[in-house]
Amino acid sequence: MMNIFFNKVVGHERNIERLRLLCHDDKVPHSLLFSGIDGIGKKIVAEAMAASILCHNPKDGNACGECPSCKALLSDIHPDFFRVVPEETASDFIIKIETLLTNFSLVFVLSKNYKER
Ligand SMILES: [Zn+2]
Repeated sequence: MMNIFFNKVVGHERNIERLRLLCHDDKVPHSLLFSGIDGIGKKIVAEAMAASILCHNPKDGNACGECPSCKALLSDIHPDFFRVVPEETASDFIIKIETLLTNFSLVFVLSKNYKER
């Protein structure tokens, strides 16, 4: 199950607070890169941030866990949430631009009708 709460993440308090405030102040940049060694929590922090952005009733930058958007995320059926996983090659991990174009060309159409702030 996807993590939708910042407070379920252990550690990284300073970075999480910055991300939570970006969500709370509605100042989320157009892109963010979560980088670091394996296993430090990049994915669960990114998921919590996505939930906060998509939540219909966020509280202090945290997803509410109760609205239709949060429930859709928890059920892994949110139409505006896409997980892009890099493909592993012999020497690296890559994300093909075709993968992004295919997935994200639908985002605006779905977002427009799914959430209104
Ligand atoms: Zn919510």
